[in-house]
Amino acid sequence: MLKLGVGACIVGSPVRYSGDAKRHNPFMDSVASVAELVAFCPEVSIGLGVPREPIRLVDEEGQVRVKDSSTQTKDFTNKLQKAAQSFLQRNTDLSGYILVKGSPSCGTERVKVYNENGNVSHHKGQGGFVAELLRIEPLLPVEEDGRLNDARIRENFFVRAYVYRDWKELQHDEMTAHRLITFYSQYKYLVMAHDIPAYKEIGRLLAEAGKVDIAVLSAQFINLLMLSLKNPAKRSGLTNTMQHIRGYLKRTISSIEKVDVDRCIDDYRTGLVPLVVPMKMLQHLFNVHPNPYIRSQVFMSPYPEELRLRNNI
Ligand code: SF4
Repeated sequence: MLKLGVGACIVGSPVRYSGDAKRHNPFMDSVASVAELVAFCPEVSIGLGVPREPIRLVDEEGQVRVKDSSTQTKDFTNKLQKAAQSFLQRNTDLSGYILVKGSPSCGTERVKVYNENGNVSHHKGQGGFVAELLRIEPLLPVEEDGRLNDARIRENFFVRAYVYRDWKELQHDEMTAHRLITFYSQYKYLVMAHDIPAYKEIGRLLAEAGKVDIAVLSAQFINLLMLSLKNPAKRSGLTNTMQHIRGYLKRTISSIEKVDVDRCIDDYRTGLVPLVVPMKMLQHLFNVHPNPYIRSQVFMSPYPEELRLRNNI
């Protein structure tokens, strides 16, 4: 099962500085049905009460610190960093984290930063807790709850979280060139859909497997893989990938089926139907005409259907 960290205030805990929880996001109910959610409030964990005085990011001679908002003299940065360290130690199998927009602890980007006089200096900050999470695990997929309302961002977050989960599971046994290549072979079409240059680069990189240090190669590989998936796949990339996959059916399906599936893919290309429609048709055709290579492709089913992630993209 997928294990995700989640800001406690997103899932109903009244732990915000004001003593409230955030407004319920119905999408989190479907997430909870497929994932183990580890709800955590870093500010409460470091002993700040509820309700409490808000904290803020303060730029001190180029160093961003987390401070109290009234005097900007109490510094919580180190405590938040320790909270992130111990959270990751307790949850080594974490596959992603859903965080909270604008928070000086949990905001992933564009958090307000004040100057030493107490005026807003810029909006390019990152919360103290999440900054430490990503310093320790830079590839950990993170997203803010509000951004998950965007269908493409939401789909992309879950693609990355499931890939990251599988990568962590692969680490349980000793890495070999064979295991690395077998692992990647399932992701080829997923990467093709997101990023063709990365698809070629990973191919070149893995051609070195067996000739170079496997630990170095694995680190380069997972960096490239996670980076290639970071941007949501475009309609053109998804169409191209489905056409490649459809090529495996050219000798097995009837001419009527060929017309139907090609039209279905084209209807997706032109925006007439969502991704789920041609994918359902491809899945059906490969159920009738099985192909072990296509069955192994994560692209065919990258996450549980209950999340309905392909219904709106
Ligand atoms: S610290 Fe994070 S989890 Fe806690 S209330 Fe603030 S945004 Fe929510």
